[in-house]
Amino acid sequence: MELPFAESYKIKMVEPIRQSTRAEREQWIKEANYNVFKLRSNQVFIDLLTDSGTGAMSDRQWSEMMLGDESYAGASSYFKMKDAIRDLLGFEYFLPTHQGRAAENVLFSALVKAGDIVPGNSHFDTTKGHIEFRKAKAVDCTIKEAFNTAVYHPFKGNLDLNKLEDVLKSNPREIIPLIVVTVTCNSSGGQPVSMENLKGVRQLADKYGVMVLFDSARFAENAYFIKTREAGYEHRSIREIVLEMFSYADAMTMSSKKDAIVNMGGFIGLRSRELFEKASVFNIMFEGYVTYGGMSGRDMNALAQGLHEGTDFEYLKTRISQVEYLGHRLIEFGVPVQQPIGGHAVFVDAKRFLPQLPKEHFQAQMLVVELYLEAGVRGVEIGALLADRDPETRENRFPALELLRLAIPRRVYTNNHMDYVATALANVYERSNTITSGLKIVNEAPIMRHFTVDLARI
Ligand SMILES: *Cc1c(COP(=O)(O)O)cnc(C)c1O
Repeated sequence: MELPFAESYKIKMVEPIRQSTRAEREQWIKEANYNVFKLRSNQVFIDLLTDSGTGAMSDRQWSEMMLGDESYAGASSYFKMKDAIRDLLGFEYFLPTHQGRAAENVLFSALVKAGDIVPGNSHFDTTKGHIEFRKAKAVDCTIKEAFNTAVYHPFKGNLDLNKLEDVLKSNPREIIPLIVVTVTCNSSGGQPVSMENLKGVRQLADKYGVMVLFDSARFAENAYFIKTREAGYEHRSIREIVLEMFSYADAMTMSSKKDAIVNMGGFIGLRSRELFEKASVFNIMFEGYVTYGGMSGRDMNALAQGLHEGTDFEYLKTRISQVEYLGHRLIEFGVPVQQPIGGHAVFVDAKRFLPQLPKEHFQAQMLVVELYLEAGVRGVEIGALLADRDPETRENRFPALELLRLAIPRRVYTNNHMDYVATALANVYERSNTITSGLKIVNEAPIMRHFTVDLARI
């Protein structure tokens, strides 16, 4: 018999979690104004809010924590991180930052100005936030297949190169400071970008003289999909694929809370010394001196080690197989999900799940609430709440997709937990026709409202 697949690690430390009653959850979600960001974590049984900073560090990462060098300047931890970034990703210059959005803040302070246009594949919310905050505009050039959850496409994170070229052609070069390629594309469902597409973006960027930035939180998952889905890469190692991917970028930002498997941290990788020097000024102002940038030495050590572990094929296979496991359980139950299953999360199509609700009722958020009430499972909305209002017209933006995202923390839950989640959602699906009204906004912030919004039942 062929041996079955098994996880590439075993468990050395555990953390108890507790179930609750439906009555308790009814009360808690009401007190949280139907916003799951406002729940306490002990009111949640299985927490799939995010895979960001929620992973379990390895024994080697914890060992590295003890070796952290907390010198203000020139710490050995800085050089460990520098070596890992140069050797694994190929960037000569780097700036540590406390997390991914801080990297965006620093780099965009050096690059983006009012009136600019920043094309890319479905920009992540903080990326878009930092663009719009500077009165610039993010233009989404993702392929159209990404917006149909039922069609299969192996690389739904790809940019439509014709769309991208239209943007580059029809605007003056001076107002396009960069192209952002998000790998994997979080907002379109954790979907990868193919090597061929990355190459195509590079060619267009060269043709029009624009720089390319990879928003790289899940670059290793992207490399795994290239290896397993793209012809010509099946015999290449993850690390070879990663180096080739980044060879098409001029710069990268990374939220290391994802594929570097740390609880906090981020950085900017650069090839240009000039841009490095320009960005260093903002790093010192916003984050900290250039050799720590808002991170402790121990955290930089764990991050460097995490970059090595995160680019290991067996680890990635374990990780992505678990996400696929949950996705396939849901498909068995008939639950409509984005296909193929993404790298870090399963995305449930709320428009197909709750077709009776109008979009103004925030279908995906309603599904988040229903899943929490059913079983104490916390997912998150990727839909109209997240899409926010148009900065000019202040009208609600209703995106093509209304998704419930079930993000799987790295090395944290077992497949029994996945079975529990799948069954819970199947139960909600079975009674979905009894859900006849959704939610309305009572109170919201002027930007990135989804974190703090207060909602009420309609
Ligand atoms: C998480 C993430 C960010 C922002 O990083 P934080 O560490 O949360 O600040 C930016 N881009 C992408 C694609 C992400 O997934």
